Amino acid sequence: MPRRGGVEALRRASADCRGCPLFKDATQTVFGDGSPTARLFLVGEQPGDQEDREGQPFVGPAGQLLRRALGEAGLGDEEVYVTNAVKHFKFATAPRGKRRIHKAPSLREMTACRPWLVAELRLVSPQLVIVLGGTAGRALLGSSFRVGEQRGVLQPMPSWDRGAGGDGRSAGRSGEGSGLLLATTHPSAVLRADDREAAFRGLVADLSVAASALD
Ligand code: SF4
Repeated sequence: MPRRGGVEALRRASADCRGCPLFKDATQTVFGDGSPTARLFLVGEQPGDQEDREGQPFVGPAGQLLRRALGEAGLGDEEVYVTNAVKHFKFATAPRGKRRIHKAPSLREMTACRPWLVAELRLVSPQLVIVLGGTAGRALLGSSFRVGEQRGVLQPMPSWDRGAGGDGRSAGRSGEGSGLLLATTHPSAVLRADDREAAFRGLVADLSVAASALD
């Protein structure tokens, strides 16, 4: 882990990461992207198929939906930094054809990748972190995190010293950051929802709470 050179040095170093087996099948490391001085920091689960091919986070359909939701929540003009809890695409190949089907990362993979995420958080030092979905929540808030129980609620920025397998109970007690954190659903869950419009409205409502917390 480079100690100098900021986010760009991290990005370059992450390209050669062999911290878990996910690098073997993925195309490339998909590191975070955006302003290194952003007030708003968004964390998703892992790159998807399109992100893996292009090497950029949130460039696929979920990213497009996220940008629309940010705009409707009044955050369209806000500088953001976007990243994922896990930097390589985990997938299974469909029995017929070549379609790559998303697989959720394991706790071990999340734990292996967590130092990259923590390093990004420390360098960007955002005012507000938005956690998108369960994997990102477990990576930052501990294994007891459930997005349905915590979404849409502003909470103190937790300590980044705990591992991904922690129980989340020490969140907010170390005083490492003075900012806030808010969890919501991952935009890909909105795309999969039976009632997509209602799910989208829920995402916008949560992001509107986040918008109200920024000066
Ligand atoms: S997923 Fe994370 S820890 Fe695993 S190889 Fe990729 S960058 Fe390294």
